[in-house]
Amino acid sequence: MMQSKLIVGGRYRESEKSFDVINPATKQIIGRSAIASSQDVKDAIDLADEAYHKWSRVPSVERAEVIFRVARLIKDRQDDLSRLITIEEGKTLRESRGEVTDAYKACMYFASEGRRMHTYVTPSEQEEKQCMSIRRPLGVVAIITPWNFPISTPFWGLAPAVVMGNSVIFKPSSLTSLIGEKIAQLFLDAGLPEGVLNLVTGPGATVGNNILNNPKVKAVTFTGESKTGHSISELNSKFFRRQALELGGKNPLIVAKDADLNLTVAAALFAAFGNTGQRCTAASRIIVEESIRAEFTKRFVQQASKLIVGNGLNDNVEMGPLVSDQAQMKVIDYVKIGKEEGAKILTGGFLYEDERKNGFFYPPTVFGDVDNEMRIAQDEIFGPVVTIISAKNIDEAFSIANDTKYGLSSAIYTQNLKTAFLAIEQIEAGVTFVNQGTAGIEVTLPYGGVKESGIGKELGEAALEQYTEMKAVYIDYSLKSRPWFYSWKE
Ligand code: NAD
Repeated sequence: MMQSKLIVGGRYRESEKSFDVINPATKQIIGRSAIASSQDVKDAIDLADEAYHKWSRVPSVERAEVIFRVARLIKDRQDDLSRLITIEEGKTLRESRGEVTDAYKACMYFASEGRRMHTYVTPSEQEEKQCMSIRRPLGVVAIITPWNFPISTPFWGLAPAVVMGNSVIFKPSSLTSLIGEKIAQLFLDAGLPEGVLNLVTGPGATVGNNILNNPKVKAVTFTGESKTGHSISELNSKFFRRQALELGGKNPLIVAKDADLNLTVAAALFAAFGNTGQRCTAASRIIVEESIRAEFTKRFVQQASKLIVGNGLNDNVEMGPLVSDQAQMKVIDYVKIGKEEGAKILTGGFLYEDERKNGFFYPPTVFGDVDNEMRIAQDEIFGPVVTIISAKNIDEAFSIANDTKYGLSSAIYTQNLKTAFLAIEQIEAGVTFVNQGTAGIEVTLPYGGVKESGIGKELGEAALEQYTEMKAVYIDYSLKSRPWFYSWKE
């Protein structure tokens, strides 16, 4: 039995209350995680604030050294970390290993930012004067993350926030608190000074709320459901906080009539059922031009029904369980709704009767005859359920793609350059992939959604805007008393 604690001011802290952590593949209890009290959260924020004043004065190149050491530790511990992700969250070991690699890449990229953190200098209106901008850290930053990418999503925030001189309150999802503790431990073992990173775990409604009601928290990076994002955004506006909200999605993958079907089917399977469909960037609406719909659907359904579903620790397994009973119930409910709406189940849509009934498993499920108005095409189901929607032509495919409140990721399969560029221009989403599925983000580019998929960006240079303040500096070395304004020369 594993037991995770809080980390406050660089020290492990026992909590009065704790909760069970369950392996979704077996429903067995694998550990207990701490629930931070309101006093624990307050202490963590006070100590983070204290640590910030010292940490922000350490040169960024030196701060970055800690993150390079974290990267090395991730490599050393990749097997243990991957295994823990699989038994706590359920994804396959292969997927967990990929995610650990993503955390490593985020560290390497943002540690190298310690030597850049670009700003700009502009010419002055006056002689003997310099105008420049510098970057200052913000202070205490809260990083609140979901369970579906329990190591990469935290690192997308933790690595840049720390390199740029902030201190952090990290609250992982309750469903993945054990891995949350291992993440915080990596920073302590790499020599991060006490108090720069604090771990508080427990329910979002109480622990998250205690964090966000504290005025010492100057910025929030939140990844989770759009509904939660709404309430967090209201609190942030009350405190005039910097925020990046990375929220839900209902991502379209468009299959144009000239697409290479072999490539498309393989990519669509990975995009729809990878991570058991529990990706914010999962392809949950496959929009196919009518002339190839029957052929695409036949091949896609055939291959989806053959995916090997089971405990992610087994090498041959291609799709693991859903994360929790709640997630499984949601999928069951939506499959029922889909049938009532008149959509047709082409594969899946049942509960396993074999040993998989001892876990939160659900088979890859494909709905055909779907109208984009249906709830199964509009609501984020967050499971292995995909809808196939027919479009008369490519223009209609674009308009169906945009007929959603979400705008996170999108993809198009086509061999036609014009169609590809029209998709890039016309699809309302933070990301468009051409001839790649809807998932597979790289750390160098800005990442975030539009519409109800969020505001603010992470990754790439955009992270500089999330974790630093640009300060304008005017240096007058004329040593003359003169008007500051530009005088007309008629
Ligand atoms: P969630 O909104 O329930 O929880 C996310 C985090 O917020 C958890 O740590 C939770 O404890 C905390 N939280 C919950 N209520 C809170 C509150 N009132 N105040 C402060 N914190 C609170 O989401 P989830 O179920 O963990 O994750 C799944 C969702 O995340 C999906 O909607 C998915 O699309 C989204 N997601 C988005 C991205 C992205 O990059 N856009 C990435 C991954 C997941």
